[in-house]
Amino acid sequence: MGGMHRVTECRDLGHGAFVLRFERLGMSFVPGQYLLLEVDGEYREYSIYSSMHADFLEILVREVPEGYVTPRLRKLKVGDSLFLDGPIGEFRPYAEAQSVLFLATGTGIAPFHSAVLSYPHLDYTLVHGIRYEDETMESQDFDSHRYIPSVSQPTSGMGEHVTDWLSRHPLGTNGDVFLCGNGAMVVDATAILMDQGVHSLRIQAEAYF
Ligand SMILES: Cc1cc2nc3c(=O)[nH]c(=O)nc-3n(C[C@H](O)[C@H](O)[C@H](O)COP(=O)(O)OP(=O)(O)OC[C@H]3O[C@@H](n4cnc5c(N)ncnc54)[C@H](O)[C@@H]3O)c2cc1C
Repeated sequence: MGGMHRVTECRDLGHGAFVLRFERLGMSFVPGQYLLLEVDGEYREYSIYSSMHADFLEILVREVPEGYVTPRLRKLKVGDSLFLDGPIGEFRPYAEAQSVLFLATGTGIAPFHSAVLSYPHLDYTLVHGIRYEDETMESQDFDSHRYIPSVSQPTSGMGEHVTDWLSRHPLGTNGDVFLCGNGAMVVDATAILMDQGVHSLRIQAEAYF
């Protein structure tokens, strides 16, 4: 159900990433779902970043400088209102009594952040593809031994992509895998998992662009 929601907080996370917090206004959702935001006549999807137990809604956005919507979202101030529709989507980063592997690039970490805050007993490993070492966003919200940054352009040494990590750590026969972010990563990671013999029913994906 759509409606106008007021912005109640804006947090800058560096490297063009920021969090927008909105009034929740009773919207119910499960982690993995996304919202449709309307900005000056255009609609864009944003995964819910916040816990299902919080009394607010948050999204994590990366500003695309040449984009239409994200520079406008960047300029929002506390007290402004936006039309939000949703929640929408079938992506469900969760598995009962099983370990899960989360692979994210950039802001693709958003649904996993929502899942980890919502389900405190989740047995997860999160591999986060980022460009720079200091682009880990709000990684303090994850267990430090479960959050693995995969840095493609480190200040020293060789960079790696989440797909390199996946090739070096075959999934094995247990648990499910969830992919979120860049579409090329989703395609490449799915091919690697298939090569490792992982059944497609164990793979869920959400591609952003
Ligand atoms: C289901 C779903 C969930 C999404 N959730 C999120 C989310 O949680 N956070 C988030 O930031 N985005 C998310 N996106 C992407 C988002 O909907 C927009 O596409 C994105 O914010 C760019 O919007 P824009 O209007 O600024 O750029 P546009 O004017 O639409 O696009 C400009 C160009 O930038 C490219 N582009 C789009 N996104 C990126 C990016 N992140 N990095 C580099 N280039 C890009 C586009 O392919 C296009 O060529 C999601 C997309 C989908 C389909």
